[in-house]
Amino acid sequence: MTLAEKLRRELTADSEFVSDDPAVLAAHSGDKWFASENPEVVVFARSADDVSAVLRFASREKVPVTPRGAGFGYVGGCVPVRRGIALSMLRMNRIKEVHFADAVAVVEPGVITSDLKAAAREQRLFYPPDPASQKDCSIGGNIATNAGGPRCLKYGVTRNYVLGLEVVLANGDILRIGGRVHKNKTGFDLIGLFVGSEGMLGVVTEIILRLLPLPPARATLSAAFATMAEAAQAVQRIFAAGFLPSSLEIADSFTLEAARHGAGQALVPPGNAHLLVDLDGQEETVSQEARAVETLLRTLHPNVVQTARGEVDCEKLWALRREFSNSLRATGLTKLNQDVVVPRSRIVELIDFAAALQRKYGFPIACFGHAGDGNVHVNIMAADYEDPVVHSRVEAALDELFLQVLQWGGVITGEHGIGLAKKRWWPQATSNVVRDLHRGLKGLLDPAGILNPGKFLD
Ligand SMILES: Cc1cc2nc3c(=O)[nH]c(=O)nc-3n(C[C@H](O)[C@H](O)[C@H](O)COP(=O)(O)OP(=O)(O)OC[C@H]3O[C@@H](n4cnc5c(N)ncnc54)[C@H](O)[C@@H]3O)c2cc1C
Repeated sequence: MTLAEKLRRELTADSEFVSDDPAVLAAHSGDKWFASENPEVVVFARSADDVSAVLRFASREKVPVTPRGAGFGYVGGCVPVRRGIALSMLRMNRIKEVHFADAVAVVEPGVITSDLKAAAREQRLFYPPDPASQKDCSIGGNIATNAGGPRCLKYGVTRNYVLGLEVVLANGDILRIGGRVHKNKTGFDLIGLFVGSEGMLGVVTEIILRLLPLPPARATLSAAFATMAEAAQAVQRIFAAGFLPSSLEIADSFTLEAARHGAGQALVPPGNAHLLVDLDGQEETVSQEARAVETLLRTLHPNVVQTARGEVDCEKLWALRREFSNSLRATGLTKLNQDVVVPRSRIVELIDFAAALQRKYGFPIACFGHAGDGNVHVNIMAADYEDPVVHSRVEAALDELFLQVLQWGGVITGEHGIGLAKKRWWPQATSNVVRDLHRGLKGLLDPAGILNPGKFLD
């Protein structure tokens, strides 16, 4: 009997719920990274009870279960490497509540991030985490990867907005932690344990999120500099002058050059380094701060500075930033995005190190991202990535990059997670004690090892 037949017999005969159609299996075999593996069956959960029944069955029968949101991850986290069940959470996509007075949203995991942000906005509430993939990725995936984004500089990452979780454990038990209160110290931080657990400790079936009042005003400054060192100096000067922008994004010359070809010359200011500074808050404060930051930037002799106020004009300046991934892909090279984080004082050294790797290995490296929190994405741009020789040169460059980042006290991933992509470097990035603790927690919560096996704990 196939796994699909067993599941239909045990759970339901509904073919909408359990599918082993080859096209459906293929559509659930990977994410936006390179690895893929077909599951034996896809189960489309509709409720926590569905998930509980699937996990109880899987624990008993020792069947691997890989939870999956929208499949927009960057590290192969939802690839069912040991086959078994791909558990899609996308049909659990109700926004159950957005409550103004309590400033919370109660949502199912399959809700698309930008839909939640829009629903909050309708009530003049604000859900700050803003991954660049927000129009495609799910809140469940954001919880499982502790997703970040540009605005996390001022507002913090997904973890800072999770007040409560409903999680189905591997044995089928339904755990409820936290609630709709904004402070809670009733025991250990179990929410923190599940946020970022990459589908390996439990399946998230409901989330209570903290919302903020929507800042009524916004300004964006775009500045282009001759060198990255000048742009990085501007970052330090902005903080030194006491400003905390909501975002502070940097881009290097390769990224800008690709954008000149992709999005068009007109959109890209002249220079080898670009900075975007976003400010938000009350109208008067934002206007005042924008003027002060513009004056500060001008003292650093930029090629160009532009200031925009209001959503529409700010978004015009952001159009360039939002184009970077597309225009880099349009080069025809394979973009291998590494979301390393370094202490903020090391940004220029990171960019210089990437340039040295570029010279040594011969492939371009594009650096852009969240300068404000040291999370600058280092994109190796490889031609013929499938060629084993190129592949091994990329791996050698990554060995050097990650080693250096760790030596600076940085980390190998700030927001995408380990998944499969960074599995090889997890031992280097953690101590024996840390790895033992991870394995102990995994053994306690998932003794049969059914949840997302084959990832960094194996
Ligand atoms: C173009 C692009 C831009 C991106 N920009 C950003 C960015 O700015 N910031 C950022 O942080 N990330 C970014 N990402 C990465 C990605 O979008 C995030 O990791 C996102 O959180 C993935 O969500 P998903 O729904 O697609 O999850 P999936 O890819 O489906 O799954 C990701 C992980 O979550 C687990 N999972 C999913 N749902 C659940 C659940 N309900 N319970 C338990 N585990 C679950 C899976 O097992 C897997 O390990 C980007 C990706 C792309 C392709």
